[in-house]
Amino acid sequence: LSADLVVRGATVLDPGAPLGVADIWIEDGVITAVEPGAARRISGPEVIEADGMIAMPGLVNAHTHSGQHLDRGVAPNLPLDLWMLWAVYGAPSLDPDDSYTLAAVGALEMLETGCTSVLDHPWIPLDDFDAHAEAIATAYADLGIRAGLAPMIQDRDIFESMTFDDGDVPDPLSEAVEPGELAVAMDRFLTRWADAPRLIPMVGPSAPQRCSDELMRRLAELVDRRGSHFHTHVLETRAQVVATRARYGRSVLDVLDELGLLGERTSLAHCVWLDADEYAAVRDAGATIVHNPVSNLRCGSGLLPLAGLLAGGVTVALGADGAASNDNQNMFEAMKIAALVHSLNGEYRCWPSATDVWSMCLAGGAAALGQPIGRIAPGAAADIVLLDGSRHYADDADSLVRSLVFAEHGRSVHTVLVDGRRVIAEGRHVGDQADLHRRARALQRRIHAALPTRSLLLDRYGDLLGGAHDQALAHELSIERLARITPAFEPGPVERV
Ligand SMILES: [Zn+2]
Repeated sequence: LSADLVVRGATVLDPGAPLGVADIWIEDGVITAVEPGAARRISGPEVIEADGMIAMPGLVNAHTHSGQHLDRGVAPNLPLDLWMLWAVYGAPSLDPDDSYTLAAVGALEMLETGCTSVLDHPWIPLDDFDAHAEAIATAYADLGIRAGLAPMIQDRDIFESMTFDDGDVPDPLSEAVEPGELAVAMDRFLTRWADAPRLIPMVGPSAPQRCSDELMRRLAELVDRRGSHFHTHVLETRAQVVATRARYGRSVLDVLDELGLLGERTSLAHCVWLDADEYAAVRDAGATIVHNPVSNLRCGSGLLPLAGLLAGGVTVALGADGAASNDNQNMFEAMKIAALVHSLNGEYRCWPSATDVWSMCLAGGAAALGQPIGRIAPGAAADIVLLDGSRHYADDADSLVRSLVFAEHGRSVHTVLVDGRRVIAEGRHVGDQADLHRRARALQRRIHAALPTRSLLLDRYGDLLGGAHDQALAHELSIERLARITPAFEPGPVERV
Protein backbone atom coordinates (compact mmCIF):
# COMPACT_ATOMS: atom_id res chain seq x y z
CA LEU A 1 0.00 0.00 0.00
CA SER A 2 1.26 3.45 -0.83
CA ALA A 3 -0.17 6.81 0.19
CA ASP A 4 0.70 10.44 0.73
CA LEU A 5 -2.16 10.91 3.18
CA VAL A 6 -3.97 8.57 5.55
CA VAL A 7 -7.19 9.38 7.45
CA ARG A 8 -6.87 7.13 10.48
CA GLY A 9 -9.55 5.50 12.58
CA ALA A 10 -12.78 7.21 11.44
CA THR A 11 -16.15 5.46 11.30
CA VAL A 12 -16.50 5.23 7.53
CA LEU A 13 -20.02 5.79 6.16
CA ASP A 14 -20.07 4.84 2.49
CA PRO A 15 -23.20 4.10 0.43
CA GLY A 16 -21.70 0.87 -0.93
CA ALA A 17 -20.04 -0.68 2.12
CA PRO A 18 -20.93 -1.71 5.67
CA LEU A 19 -20.41 0.85 8.43
CA GLY A 20 -17.11 0.34 10.23
CA VAL A 21 -13.93 1.89 11.60
CA ALA A 22 -11.19 2.01 8.96
CA ASP A 23 -8.18 3.90 7.65
CA ILE A 24 -8.57 5.72 4.34
CA TRP A 25 -5.45 5.69 2.16
CA ILE A 26 -5.07 8.52 -0.34
CA GLU A 27 -2.51 9.05 -3.08
CA ASP A 28 -2.51 11.93 -5.58
CA GLY A 29 -6.04 12.87 -4.55
CA VAL A 30 -7.46 9.40 -5.13
CA ILE A 31 -8.55 6.88 -2.48
CA THR A 32 -6.34 3.80 -2.85
CA ALA A 33 -7.56 1.68 0.06
CA VAL A 34 -10.09 1.61 2.90
CA GLU A 35 -8.86 -0.91 5.47
CA PRO A 36 -9.27 -1.48 9.20
CA GLY A 37 -6.08 -0.74 11.08
CA ALA A 38 -3.75 -0.83 8.06
CA ALA A 39 -2.11 2.54 8.71
CA ARG A 40 -0.59 1.37 11.95
CA ARG A 41 1.86 -0.78 10.01
CA ILE A 42 3.51 2.03 8.09
CA SER A 43 5.19 5.36 8.51
CA GLY A 44 5.81 8.10 5.97
CA PRO A 45 2.53 9.60 4.79
CA GLU A 46 0.82 12.49 6.55
CA VAL A 47 -1.80 11.15 8.95
CA ILE A 48 -5.07 12.81 9.95
CA GLU A 49 -6.14 11.35 13.27
CA ALA A 50 -9.91 10.83 12.99
CA ASP A 51 -10.69 8.73 16.03
CA GLY A 52 -14.31 9.42 17.10
CA MET A 53 -15.14 11.05 13.79
CA ILE A 54 -17.49 10.00 11.02
CA ALA A 55 -16.02 10.01 7.50
CA MET A 56 -18.57 10.41 4.72
CA PRO A 57 -18.24 11.27 1.03
CA GLY A 58 -18.54 15.02 0.34
CA LEU A 59 -22.10 16.03 -0.52
CA VAL A 60 -22.93 17.24 -4.03
CA ASN A 61 -25.04 20.31 -4.85
CA ALA A 62 -26.07 19.50 -8.43
CA HIS A 63 -27.88 22.74 -9.24
CA THR A 64 -27.35 26.32 -8.16
CA HIS A 65 -26.82 29.82 -9.58
CA SER A 66 -23.80 31.49 -7.97
CA GLY A 67 -24.96 34.98 -8.99
CA GLN A 68 -27.75 34.68 -6.40
CA HIS A 69 -25.62 33.62 -3.40
CA LEU A 70 -26.20 36.92 -1.57
CA ASP A 71 -29.93 37.04 -2.41
CA ARG A 72 -30.83 35.42 0.91
CA GLY A 73 -34.23 36.73 1.95
CA VAL A 74 -34.42 39.09 -1.02
CA ALA A 75 -37.35 37.55 -2.92
CA PRO A 76 -40.93 37.15 -1.68
CA ASN A 77 -42.61 33.74 -2.15
CA LEU A 78 -43.97 34.00 -5.70
CA PRO A 79 -44.78 31.64 -8.57
CA LEU A 80 -41.76 31.15 -10.82
CA ASP A 81 -42.50 33.67 -13.59
CA LEU A 82 -43.25 36.46 -11.10
CA TRP A 83 -40.31 35.39 -8.96
CA MET A 84 -38.09 35.50 -12.05
CA LEU A 85 -39.11 39.07 -12.77
CA TRP A 86 -38.01 39.98 -9.26
CA ALA A 87 -34.98 37.75 -8.79
CA VAL A 88 -33.48 37.78 -12.28
CA TYR A 89 -34.70 40.82 -14.21
CA GLY A 90 -34.67 43.15 -11.23
CA ALA A 91 -31.18 42.21 -10.04
CA PRO A 92 -28.42 44.84 -10.02
CA SER A 93 -25.79 44.37 -12.73
CA LEU A 94 -22.63 42.59 -11.63
CA ASP A 95 -19.03 43.02 -12.70
CA PRO A 96 -16.48 40.17 -12.77
CA ASP A 97 -15.25 41.03 -9.24
CA ASP A 98 -18.83 40.60 -8.00
CA SER A 99 -19.06 37.26 -9.79
CA TYR A 100 -15.88 36.18 -7.99
CA THR A 101 -17.24 37.29 -4.61
CA LEU A 102 -20.55 35.51 -5.14
CA ALA A 103 -19.00 32.24 -6.31
CA ALA A 104 -16.49 32.35 -3.44
CA VAL A 105 -19.03 32.98 -0.65
CA GLY A 106 -21.20 30.17 -2.02
CA ALA A 107 -18.24 27.78 -2.19
CA LEU A 108 -17.32 28.70 1.38
CA GLU A 109 -20.87 28.08 2.64
CA MET A 110 -20.99 24.72 0.85
CA LEU A 111 -17.56 23.51 2.02
CA GLU A 112 -18.27 24.53 5.63
CA THR A 113 -21.49 22.48 5.50
CA GLY A 114 -19.93 19.34 4.04
CA CYS A 115 -20.54 19.85 0.32
CA THR A 116 -17.46 19.31 -1.85
CA SER A 117 -18.89 19.54 -5.39
CA VAL A 118 -21.25 21.98 -7.04
CA LEU A 119 -22.88 22.29 -10.44
CA ASP A 120 -23.08 26.05 -10.94
CA HIS A 121 -25.39 27.49 -13.62
CA PRO A 122 -24.58 31.21 -13.36
CA TRP A 123 -26.03 33.84 -15.67
CA ILE A 124 -23.13 35.43 -17.54
CA PRO A 125 -23.53 38.58 -19.68
CA LEU A 126 -22.31 38.20 -23.26
CA ASP A 127 -20.49 41.56 -23.30
CA ASP A 128 -18.02 40.45 -20.62
CA PHE A 129 -18.40 36.69 -20.90
CA ASP A 130 -14.77 35.58 -20.61
CA ALA A 131 -13.97 37.80 -17.60
CA HIS A 132 -17.01 36.59 -15.62
CA ALA A 133 -16.25 32.93 -16.40
CA GLU A 134 -12.61 33.49 -15.40
CA ALA A 135 -13.68 35.12 -12.13
CA ILE A 136 -16.02 32.29 -11.15
CA ALA A 137 -13.56 29.54 -12.10
CA THR A 138 -10.82 31.35 -10.16
CA ALA A 139 -13.04 31.62 -7.07
CA TYR A 140 -13.62 27.85 -7.16
CA ALA A 141 -9.90 27.16 -7.57
CA ASP A 142 -9.07 29.55 -4.69
CA LEU A 143 -11.62 28.00 -2.32
CA GLY A 144 -10.75 24.46 -3.44
CA ILE A 145 -14.24 23.16 -4.28
CA ARG A 146 -14.91 20.83 -7.21
CA ALA A 147 -17.25 22.49 -9.71
CA GLY A 148 -19.18 21.89 -12.87
CA LEU A 149 -19.54 25.30 -14.49
CA ALA A 150 -22.35 25.78 -17.00
CA PRO A 151 -22.71 29.44 -18.01
CA MET A 152 -26.46 30.09 -18.27
CA ILE A 153 -27.25 31.60 -21.65
CA GLN A 154 -30.42 32.44 -23.54
CA ASP A 155 -31.49 34.61 -26.45
CA ARG A 156 -35.24 34.84 -25.78
CA ASP A 157 -36.80 37.16 -23.26
CA ILE A 158 -38.99 36.07 -20.31
CA PHE A 159 -42.12 37.23 -22.18
CA GLU A 160 -41.16 35.37 -25.38
CA SER A 161 -40.75 32.18 -23.35
CA MET A 162 -44.33 32.32 -22.02
CA THR A 163 -47.80 32.05 -23.52
CA PHE A 164 -50.40 34.76 -23.11
CA ASP A 165 -53.89 33.54 -23.92
CA ASP A 166 -54.89 37.09 -24.89
CA GLY A 167 -52.12 37.12 -27.46
CA ASP A 168 -50.51 40.44 -26.53
CA VAL A 169 -46.83 39.86 -25.71
CA PRO A 170 -45.17 42.84 -23.97
CA ASP A 171 -41.93 44.33 -25.30
CA PRO A 172 -38.87 42.36 -24.17
CA LEU A 173 -37.10 43.34 -20.94
CA SER A 174 -33.67 42.21 -22.11
CA GLU A 175 -31.55 43.31 -25.05
CA ALA A 176 -31.38 41.10 -28.12
CA VAL A 177 -28.34 38.83 -28.41
CA GLU A 178 -27.01 37.05 -31.45
CA PRO A 179 -27.16 33.21 -31.07
CA GLY A 180 -23.98 32.81 -33.14
CA GLU A 181 -22.05 35.06 -30.74
CA LEU A 182 -23.28 33.09 -27.73
CA ALA A 183 -22.21 29.82 -29.34
CA VAL A 184 -18.76 31.21 -30.15
CA ALA A 185 -18.34 32.44 -26.55
CA MET A 186 -19.34 28.99 -25.27
CA ASP A 187 -16.86 27.29 -27.61
CA ARG A 188 -14.10 29.56 -26.30
CA PHE A 189 -15.14 28.80 -22.72
CA LEU A 190 -14.94 25.02 -23.30
CA THR A 191 -11.43 25.38 -24.76
CA ARG A 192 -10.19 27.68 -21.97
CA TRP A 193 -11.27 25.34 -19.15
CA ALA A 194 -10.81 21.93 -20.80
CA ASP A 195 -7.88 20.90 -18.61
CA ALA A 196 -8.42 22.82 -15.37
CA PRO A 197 -8.21 20.68 -12.22
CA ARG A 198 -11.50 20.13 -10.36
CA LEU A 199 -13.45 22.19 -12.93
CA ILE A 200 -15.82 20.68 -15.48
CA PRO A 201 -16.91 23.18 -18.14
CA MET A 202 -20.45 22.48 -19.34
CA VAL A 203 -22.93 23.76 -21.90
CA GLY A 204 -25.93 25.25 -20.07
CA PRO A 205 -28.74 27.08 -21.85
CA SER A 206 -31.22 28.48 -19.31
CA ALA A 207 -34.11 26.41 -20.72
CA PRO A 208 -35.14 25.34 -24.22
CA GLN A 209 -38.12 27.73 -24.24
CA ARG A 210 -35.80 30.63 -23.40
CA CYS A 211 -33.62 29.89 -26.43
CA SER A 212 -34.18 30.24 -30.18
CA ASP A 213 -34.14 27.08 -32.29
CA GLU A 214 -30.93 28.34 -33.84
CA LEU A 215 -29.17 28.76 -30.48
CA MET A 216 -30.24 25.27 -29.34
CA ARG A 217 -29.04 23.80 -32.66
CA ARG A 218 -25.65 25.51 -32.33
CA LEU A 219 -25.25 24.39 -28.70
CA ALA A 220 -26.20 20.82 -29.66
CA GLU A 221 -23.52 20.91 -32.34
CA LEU A 222 -21.03 22.13 -29.72
CA VAL A 223 -21.98 19.40 -27.23
CA ASP A 224 -21.57 16.77 -29.93
CA ARG A 225 -18.26 18.10 -31.24
CA ARG A 226 -16.69 18.65 -27.79
CA GLY A 227 -18.28 15.72 -25.94
CA SER A 228 -19.41 18.23 -23.30
CA HIS A 229 -21.71 17.86 -20.36
CA PHE A 230 -25.09 19.50 -20.86
CA HIS A 231 -27.21 21.12 -18.15
CA THR A 232 -30.51 22.99 -18.41
CA HIS A 233 -33.83 23.66 -16.67
CA VAL A 234 -36.71 21.46 -17.86
CA LEU A 235 -40.45 21.74 -17.10
CA GLU A 236 -40.21 23.28 -13.67
CA THR A 237 -43.82 24.56 -13.69
CA ARG A 238 -47.21 23.79 -15.12
CA ALA A 239 -47.02 27.04 -17.14
CA GLN A 240 -43.91 25.72 -18.89
CA VAL A 241 -45.76 22.61 -20.07
CA VAL A 242 -48.43 24.87 -21.59
CA ALA A 243 -45.84 27.21 -23.16
CA THR A 244 -43.59 24.49 -24.61
CA ARG A 245 -46.52 22.46 -26.01
CA ALA A 246 -47.79 25.64 -27.66
CA ARG A 247 -44.39 26.48 -29.14
CA TYR A 248 -43.25 23.05 -30.29
CA GLY A 249 -46.56 21.22 -30.77
CA ARG A 250 -44.96 18.26 -28.98
CA SER A 251 -42.94 17.40 -25.87
CA VAL A 252 -39.86 19.51 -25.15
CA LEU A 253 -38.14 16.20 -24.30
CA ASP A 254 -38.65 15.15 -27.94
CA VAL A 255 -37.02 18.41 -29.00
CA LEU A 256 -33.99 17.77 -26.76
CA ASP A 257 -33.80 14.14 -27.91
CA GLU A 258 -33.90 15.11 -31.58
CA LEU A 259 -31.04 17.55 -30.97
CA GLY A 260 -28.98 14.72 -29.42
CA LEU A 261 -29.09 16.47 -26.05
CA LEU A 262 -30.48 13.59 -23.99
CA GLY A 263 -27.63 11.36 -22.92
CA GLU A 264 -25.47 10.22 -20.02
CA ARG A 265 -23.75 13.60 -19.87
CA THR A 266 -27.07 15.42 -19.56
CA SER A 267 -28.50 16.73 -16.29
CA LEU A 268 -31.90 18.40 -16.17
CA ALA A 269 -32.91 20.65 -13.29
CA HIS A 270 -36.43 20.22 -11.85
CA CYS A 271 -38.42 18.03 -14.33
CA VAL A 272 -41.42 18.36 -12.00
CA TRP A 273 -44.03 18.37 -14.77
CA LEU A 274 -43.02 15.44 -17.01
CA ASP A 275 -45.44 12.66 -17.87
CA ALA A 276 -44.59 8.95 -17.77
CA ASP A 277 -43.32 8.83 -21.38
CA GLU A 278 -41.10 11.84 -20.77
CA TYR A 279 -39.62 10.37 -17.57
CA ALA A 280 -39.00 7.12 -19.48
CA ALA A 281 -37.16 9.09 -22.18
CA VAL A 282 -34.90 10.66 -19.53
CA ARG A 283 -34.24 7.28 -17.91
CA ASP A 284 -33.62 5.41 -21.17
CA ALA A 285 -31.16 8.07 -22.31
CA GLY A 286 -29.21 7.69 -19.03
CA ALA A 287 -29.72 11.38 -18.21
CA THR A 288 -29.98 12.72 -14.63
CA ILE A 289 -32.83 14.71 -13.08
CA VAL A 290 -31.77 17.25 -10.45
CA HIS A 291 -34.40 17.60 -7.72
CA ASN A 292 -34.55 21.00 -5.97
CA PRO A 293 -37.16 20.54 -3.25
CA VAL A 294 -36.65 23.83 -1.38
CA SER A 295 -36.84 25.96 -4.50
CA ASN A 296 -39.91 24.07 -5.74
CA LEU A 297 -41.62 24.84 -2.42
CA ARG A 298 -40.45 28.46 -2.40
CA CYS A 299 -41.99 29.10 -5.84
CA GLY A 300 -44.96 26.74 -5.44
CA SER A 301 -43.84 24.85 -8.55
CA GLY A 302 -45.19 21.48 -7.43
CA LEU A 303 -44.02 18.15 -6.08
CA LEU A 304 -41.69 15.90 -8.10
CA PRO A 305 -43.02 12.30 -8.08
CA LEU A 306 -39.74 11.20 -6.50
CA ALA A 307 -40.72 7.79 -5.11
CA GLY A 308 -41.89 6.64 -8.53
CA LEU A 309 -38.75 7.95 -10.23
CA LEU A 310 -36.47 6.08 -7.81
CA ALA A 311 -38.53 2.89 -8.11
CA GLY A 312 -38.56 3.29 -11.90
CA GLY A 313 -34.77 3.46 -12.13
CA VAL A 314 -34.37 7.15 -13.02
CA THR A 315 -31.10 8.73 -11.84
CA VAL A 316 -31.94 11.66 -9.56
CA ALA A 317 -29.49 14.14 -8.03
CA LEU A 318 -30.17 16.84 -5.44
CA GLY A 319 -29.70 20.60 -5.75
CA ALA A 320 -30.09 23.61 -3.50
CA ASP A 321 -30.93 25.87 -6.46
CA GLY A 322 -29.96 29.55 -6.25
CA ALA A 323 -30.20 31.47 -2.98
CA ALA A 324 -32.98 33.68 -4.42
CA SER A 325 -35.22 30.61 -4.22
CA ASN A 326 -33.74 28.65 -1.32
CA ASP A 327 -32.02 30.74 0.57
CA ASN A 328 -29.22 28.52 1.85
CA GLN A 329 -26.61 26.46 0.08
CA ASN A 330 -26.73 23.78 2.74
CA MET A 331 -27.12 20.25 1.39
CA PHE A 332 -27.98 18.85 4.83
CA GLU A 333 -31.02 21.12 4.75
CA ALA A 334 -31.84 20.13 1.14
CA MET A 335 -31.61 16.44 2.12
CA LYS A 336 -33.87 16.99 5.13
CA ILE A 337 -36.58 18.73 3.11
CA ALA A 338 -36.30 16.07 0.37
CA ALA A 339 -36.68 13.32 2.97
CA LEU A 340 -39.77 15.01 4.47
CA VAL A 341 -41.81 16.64 1.73
CA HIS A 342 -42.58 13.47 -0.21
CA SER A 343 -44.65 12.09 2.64
CA LEU A 344 -47.35 14.44 1.26
CA ASN A 345 -47.72 12.03 -1.62
CA GLY A 346 -48.57 8.35 -1.86
CA GLU A 347 -48.79 5.66 0.75
CA TYR A 348 -46.22 5.40 3.50
CA ARG A 349 -44.52 2.23 2.27
CA CYS A 350 -43.32 4.19 -0.77
CA TRP A 351 -42.03 7.33 0.96
CA PRO A 352 -38.36 7.95 0.07
CA SER A 353 -36.17 7.24 3.09
CA ALA A 354 -33.32 9.33 4.45
CA THR A 355 -30.93 6.76 2.97
CA ASP A 356 -32.64 7.09 -0.44
CA VAL A 357 -32.16 10.84 -0.36
CA TRP A 358 -28.57 10.67 0.91
CA SER A 359 -27.61 8.11 -1.76
CA MET A 360 -29.35 10.28 -4.36
CA CYS A 361 -27.31 13.30 -3.29
CA LEU A 362 -24.08 11.29 -3.66
CA ALA A 363 -24.65 8.92 -6.60
CA GLY A 364 -26.95 11.27 -8.49
CA GLY A 365 -24.50 14.12 -7.93
CA ALA A 366 -21.64 11.97 -9.25
CA ALA A 367 -23.71 11.23 -12.36
CA ALA A 368 -24.63 14.89 -12.90
CA LEU A 369 -20.98 15.96 -12.72
CA GLY A 370 -19.64 12.84 -14.45
CA GLN A 371 -16.95 12.45 -11.79
CA PRO A 372 -15.72 9.53 -9.63
CA ILE A 373 -17.11 11.11 -6.46
CA GLY A 374 -19.73 10.21 -3.82
CA ARG A 375 -17.91 7.14 -2.47
CA ILE A 376 -15.23 6.35 0.08
CA ALA A 377 -13.83 3.45 -1.88
CA PRO A 378 -10.69 2.66 -3.88
CA GLY A 379 -10.65 4.61 -7.14
CA ALA A 380 -12.93 7.40 -5.90
CA ALA A 381 -11.68 10.97 -5.63
CA ALA A 382 -10.65 11.80 -2.06
CA ASP A 383 -13.55 14.23 -1.45
CA ILE A 384 -14.13 13.38 2.20
CA VAL A 385 -15.96 15.08 5.06
CA LEU A 386 -14.97 14.30 8.64
CA LEU A 387 -17.75 15.01 11.10
CA ASP A 388 -17.35 15.34 14.85
CA GLY A 389 -19.17 12.17 15.92
CA SER A 390 -20.43 13.44 19.27
CA ARG A 391 -23.86 14.63 18.07
CA HIS A 392 -24.62 11.37 16.28
CA TYR A 393 -24.83 7.89 17.68
CA ALA A 394 -25.51 4.80 15.65
CA ASP A 395 -24.31 1.26 15.19
CA ASP A 396 -25.88 0.83 11.79
CA ALA A 397 -25.68 2.86 8.60
CA ASP A 398 -29.42 3.55 8.19
CA SER A 399 -29.75 5.06 11.70
CA LEU A 400 -26.61 7.12 11.22
CA VAL A 401 -27.81 8.44 7.85
CA ARG A 402 -31.19 9.31 9.43
CA SER A 403 -29.38 11.17 12.20
CA LEU A 404 -27.30 13.11 9.66
CA VAL A 405 -30.20 13.89 7.30
CA PHE A 406 -32.67 14.94 10.02
CA ALA A 407 -30.42 16.36 12.75
CA GLU A 408 -27.28 17.76 11.12
CA HIS A 409 -26.89 21.30 9.73
CA GLY A 410 -23.17 21.24 9.07
CA ARG A 411 -22.25 22.19 12.65
CA SER A 412 -20.40 18.89 13.06
CA VAL A 413 -18.22 19.40 9.98
CA HIS A 414 -14.64 19.29 11.24
CA THR A 415 -12.38 18.57 8.27
CA VAL A 416 -13.06 18.60 4.54
CA LEU A 417 -10.81 17.16 1.87
CA VAL A 418 -11.30 17.81 -1.83
CA ASP A 419 -9.03 15.82 -4.13
CA GLY A 420 -7.09 14.86 -1.00
CA ARG A 421 -6.38 18.55 -0.24
CA ARG A 422 -7.47 19.84 3.15
CA VAL A 423 -9.74 22.88 2.61
CA ILE A 424 -11.62 22.93 5.95
CA ALA A 425 -9.85 22.29 9.26
CA GLU A 426 -11.56 22.56 12.67
CA GLY A 427 -14.71 23.69 10.85
CA ARG A 428 -13.09 26.74 9.20
CA HIS A 429 -11.63 27.30 5.75
CA VAL A 430 -7.84 27.03 5.76
CA GLY A 431 -7.49 30.33 3.85
CA ASP A 432 -7.98 33.81 5.31
CA GLN A 433 -11.48 34.87 4.24
CA ALA A 434 -11.68 38.28 6.03
CA ASP A 435 -11.38 40.22 2.76
CA LEU A 436 -14.00 38.04 1.09
CA HIS A 437 -16.45 38.71 3.94
CA ARG A 438 -15.87 42.48 3.61
CA ARG A 439 -16.51 42.36 -0.14
CA ALA A 440 -19.61 40.24 0.35
CA ARG A 441 -21.00 42.70 2.90
CA ALA A 442 -20.51 45.63 0.51
CA LEU A 443 -22.17 43.72 -2.35
CA GLN A 444 -25.07 42.77 -0.10
CA ARG A 445 -25.63 46.50 0.60
CA ARG A 446 -25.77 47.18 -3.15
CA ILE A 447 -28.23 44.33 -3.69
CA HIS A 448 -30.52 45.71 -1.00
CA ALA A 449 -30.18 49.30 -2.25
CA ALA A 450 -31.56 48.07 -5.61
CA LEU A 451 -34.69 46.49 -4.11
CA PRO A 452 -36.97 49.39 -5.21
CA THR A 453 -36.18 48.51 -8.88
CA ARG A 454 -37.50 45.03 -8.25
CA SER A 455 -40.68 46.38 -6.69
CA LEU A 456 -41.23 48.69 -9.69
CA LEU A 457 -40.92 45.77 -12.12
CA LEU A 458 -43.40 43.74 -10.13
CA ASP A 459 -45.79 46.71 -9.94
CA ARG A 460 -45.60 47.10 -13.70
CA TYR A 461 -45.85 43.50 -14.88
CA GLY A 462 -47.15 41.61 -11.85
CA ASP A 463 -50.81 41.56 -12.92
CA LEU A 464 -49.91 40.47 -16.44
CA LEU A 465 -47.72 37.59 -15.25
CA GLY A 466 -50.18 36.72 -12.49
CA GLY A 467 -52.91 36.49 -15.12
CA ALA A 468 -50.76 34.26 -17.33
CA HIS A 469 -50.03 32.09 -14.28
CA ASP A 470 -53.77 31.72 -13.53
CA GLN A 471 -54.44 30.83 -17.17
CA ALA A 472 -51.78 28.13 -17.06
CA LEU A 473 -53.35 26.69 -13.90
CA ALA A 474 -56.69 26.48 -15.69
CA HIS A 475 -55.25 24.48 -18.62
CA GLU A 476 -56.23 20.80 -18.56
CA LEU A 477 -53.17 18.54 -18.27
CA SER A 478 -52.94 14.77 -17.96
CA ILE A 479 -50.71 15.12 -14.86
CA GLU A 480 -50.98 16.93 -11.51
CA ARG A 481 -48.12 18.00 -9.23
CA LEU A 482 -49.88 20.46 -6.90
CA ALA A 483 -51.61 19.58 -3.64
CA ARG A 484 -55.38 20.00 -3.58
CA ILE A 485 -56.32 20.70 0.03
CA THR A 486 -59.91 21.13 1.22
CA PRO A 487 -60.32 24.73 2.48
CA ALA A 488 -60.49 25.32 6.24
CA PHE A 489 -63.84 27.09 5.85
CA GLU A 490 -66.39 27.34 3.06
CA PRO A 491 -66.61 28.99 0.62
CA GLY A 492 -62.81 28.95 0.19
CA PRO A 493 -59.51 30.65 0.98
CA VAL A 494 -59.83 34.01 2.68
CA GLU A 495 -58.33 36.81 0.66
CA ARG A 496 -55.58 38.76 2.35
CA VAL A 497 -56.46 42.33 3.07
ZN1 LIG B 1 -32.26 26.94 -11.36
